[in-house]
Amino acid sequence: MFSEKIIDIARKALEKGEVGGVVMLRKTAPDAATHTLISKPEMLDDADPLMPYFPGNGANFIRKLTKLAPPDKKILAVLRPCEMRATVELVKLAQIQNENIIYLTFDCAGTIPRKEFQNAEIPDGDTFYGGDNFEKIRPVCQSCDISRADTADIGFLAFEDGAPFVAYTDAGKEFLNNLDVEFSEDIPAAKYGAIAEKRAESKKELYAKLDEQSAGLDNLMNTFSHCINCHNCMTNCPICICRECFFESEALDFEGDAFLELAERKGALRAPTDVMLFHLGRMTHMATSCVACGACGEACPEDIPVEQIFKWVSENVQSQFEYVAGRKWDEELPLKTFREEELEPR
Ligand code: SF4
Ligand code: SF4
Ligand code: SF4
Repeated sequence: MFSEKIIDIARKALEKGEVGGVVMLRKTAPDAATHTLISKPEMLDDADPLMPYFPGNGANFIRKLTKLAPPDKKILAVLRPCEMRATVELVKLAQIQNENIIYLTFDCAGTIPRKEFQNAEIPDGDTFYGGDNFEKIRPVCQSCDISRADTADIGFLAFEDGAPFVAYTDAGKEFLNNLDVEFSEDIPAAKYGAIAEKRAESKKELYAKLDEQSAGLDNLMNTFSHCINCHNCMTNCPICICRECFFESEALDFEGDAFLELAERKGALRAPTDVMLFHLGRMTHMATSCVACGACGEACPEDIPVEQIFKWVSENVQSQFEYVAGRKWDEELPLKTFREEELEPR
């Protein structure tokens, strides 16, 4: 019972007063779940951290809980690896205050597109981890080769035999010791390695498809041709944090003559008027910190593979800086750092 192992830790931590709350995925209806801040042990009955459901990136919730001031009592946050990586980016961007948060992540078997659950029950995490569900999970999950995050304090290595807990930090060690929870000092990577290989292969196929279908402005415009410019992708992205968004400001409102001039220049002006400007602008803002979580794609009413495009572009951009968003606490954000040798021709 994988999920129960994590829930047990949460229950013990609440009962012993080690934490004042636990952030965990919890069912709110048979076909829906949300990240929930739970402070009473009995409310853990409907919790299931491993259920294959992605209501949005949990880092958004950690940001909400800590942005003004971190809590006085500790909170245990149970996050997927891509949520943990977004959390690391948000700490670097001064959006999350880490004090008093204990992070627990687990080997992630991926999640199923949310729309599959409209009026259908979400399977529980244990049933899901017990089966081969590779074909059912989201394309970003099939091609996710970072589905274990050692930036957390505690890891639950669900892919390995015995599914051990490991402590990545001293805070994690102390936390597990206080709860009398056994943990391993070693970090086995046997099964994880095989899964990562399969996903790396899948990523190669995905990128080859995108190279063919979406590279170049014309292809990109085709990919976004159904976009209704609703900005759901932006609203749900954990990394889109500007207080005032240029694309939602009045800067893109023009007088009629200006629109007419644009139409005359091109022969015709389509509505919505600034779709590509929005996506290309967002891409330039996002590319160094995108963690390929797919929250944007899950929120798209037009089924545009926006998360695949952002993953593909961002990985290319990040590789230019030898950076992987959220991989390490001490890697500086590429655009906040300047090194003289960057100017040397490669
Ligand atoms: S993108 Fe990776 S870490 Fe995130 S839900 Fe999918 S498999 Fe898990
Ligand atoms: S752009 Fe999409 S995939 Fe990237 S971090 Fe934002 S929501 Fe996640
Ligand atoms: S969520 Fe989809 S339709 Fe809405 S702006 Fe983003 S890509 Fe366009």
